[in-house]
Amino acid sequence: MTATELRHDWTLQEARALFELPFNDLLFRAQTVHRAHFDPNEVQVSTLLSIKTGACPEDCKYCPQSGHYNTGLEKEKLLEIEKVVAEARAAREKGASRFCMGAAWRSPARKDMPYVLDMIRQVKSLGLETCMTLGMLEESQARELADAGLDYYNHNLDTSEKFYNHIITTRTYQDRLDTLDNVRKAGMKVCCGGIMGMGEEEDDRVGLLVQLANLPQHPESVPVNMLVKVKGTPLENVEDLDPFEFIRIIAVARIMMPASHVRLSAGREQMNEQMQALCFMAGANSIFYGEKLLTTSNPEADSDMQLFRKLGIRPEQREQCATEEQEEDAIVEAVEHEATRHLFYDATRESA
Ligand code: SF4
Repeated sequence: MTATELRHDWTLQEARALFELPFNDLLFRAQTVHRAHFDPNEVQVSTLLSIKTGACPEDCKYCPQSGHYNTGLEKEKLLEIEKVVAEARAAREKGASRFCMGAAWRSPARKDMPYVLDMIRQVKSLGLETCMTLGMLEESQARELADAGLDYYNHNLDTSEKFYNHIITTRTYQDRLDTLDNVRKAGMKVCCGGIMGMGEEEDDRVGLLVQLANLPQHPESVPVNMLVKVKGTPLENVEDLDPFEFIRIIAVARIMMPASHVRLSAGREQMNEQMQALCFMAGANSIFYGEKLLTTSNPEADSDMQLFRKLGIRPEQREQCATEEQEEDAIVEAVEHEATRHLFYDATRESA
């Protein structure tokens, strides 16, 4: 196999063999693949906003937004479009290239669709890439979202098919695969990954990666989450995952899905700088940036930028900006050159 080959026929055995490589060999291999597809010193930056929080009818055992568990989470109705657009503008000014909007729904209701479609149009008009996660989608709903200009749809498989029933009982693994299929048919890009440290076995982590890599097309974004144990959820006392196991998963994801953005997502706050650096070395090249990752806290944006500076990492530039080109140029210039990096921070503080 070459470092550039995209495969969709991975076996569990092959994936296990990668996972069991000596750590340095695994990281070297992941770096080699990473460098064949990406600038190793660029990391894509996304911002995530919860547009409807809590009271979800699903029973995902890790999730504080599930209505099945009492986590003390403050419920919110669908956010007003103006608020969403203001948050998107602020995210753009802080250097985000993609704005992700998440709603705690089983699937979007007909009455909510016009608002959601308007959000997409307005956020997109700011020159940001748009991503949404709204639960399961019918084919027609996926088409409506795509027609409004939605670039990405996030729908995670969460874990292996074998372990799935231990985590969610209100929708099936096949339901999730069907939604992913509808998203692809509508022509949108897919953001799909999972959560590590939910009490699954190593084979479940590997099984999830095999499932993702063997989809007809690799997800363009693969979020790899470390469980954030929230009091009141059934997983609040589950045993911690060894950090090296997590880094190995990142590396194996990079090797199996060489051209995808592998995203460090939830759980990053529990990781020290050294662990995050190892994750970048293993091939992670996307992060969520901002104060909150849906309902779990996320490292402060400025500390992310400080880590980027220490590691010589640049935020990946967004592909286009439809409006306010001068402002865009100023941000790009600030993040692009080492000599001017401090301007980025000044600009961030001024706009905060
Ligand atoms: S993960 Fe999503 S679908 Fe599951 S309970 Fe949380 S908000 Fe609902």
